[in-house]
Amino acid sequence: MLGKSKNGSHQSKADEYAVIGLGRFGTSVARTLVAAGHTVLGVDRDMALVQRHSHEITHTAQLDSTDEEALKEINIESYGTVIVAIGTNFEANLMTSVALKEIGVKNVICKATTLMQRDILLRVGVDRVVLPEYEAGERLAMNITSPSVVTQIELCPGTRVSEVKVPDSMIGLTLEEIDLRNKYELNVVAIQRGESVLVSPKKGSVLRKDDLMVVIGSGDAVQKLGSN
Ligand code: ATP
Repeated sequence: MLGKSKNGSHQSKADEYAVIGLGRFGTSVARTLVAAGHTVLGVDRDMALVQRHSHEITHTAQLDSTDEEALKEINIESYGTVIVAIGTNFEANLMTSVALKEIGVKNVICKATTLMQRDILLRVGVDRVVLPEYEAGERLAMNITSPSVVTQIELCPGTRVSEVKVPDSMIGLTLEEIDLRNKYELNVVAIQRGESVLVSPKKGSVLRKDDLMVVIGSGDAVQKLGSN
């Protein structure tokens, strides 16, 4: 059953998102996407949950996502990205993910709760797997040990883009003087100063208090810089 939705429409929704499973994780993803201006379809088998979230998610549908026919009925293949946010019931997560890839959804992102689940999901062809609890744990540990690292994105295993507060010892120095490339094997790709961002800063750029350096390099190098 579909609520508030363009049911039956077969137009492409390549820039729209569907979130399957409206637990804490799924609703948080859906809400954030809606707040960023995206159109989101929220799906859950529990009608009470669907109704509870229908005011804050663009479209909602009540169905069992392990039922391939039900997924086809809501034209799920037309969504550019589908997020499977089912955690506890791994069987349902796996069956849903396999059905989505079978139907031809281009980008399927799944939540997993264990590393073994992640490996299984990747093996059946899911495009990306997130492990929210592991990732939150890593972020917390990084935050405790390197409080000056504000955010990080892992580009590939071992390589990160990180936003790091300029250490006191580097305030007033130029990029050439701090020489991160040779001392830490890190490249500074941008400097964020208040609201403005200086992209590809010159070697003569002087670092100021409260600047954030956006650096690319290994996690170890970032940690070493962050603990400065
Ligand atoms: P949370 O995100 O709150 O931590 P969780 O990891 O405990 O949730 P579950 O409770 O297993 O995950 O599932 C999240 C949501 O997915 C629930 O609202 C549940 O009703 C829904 N769900 C589970 N199986 C299916 C299914 N086969 N079809 C549709 N929705 C489902």
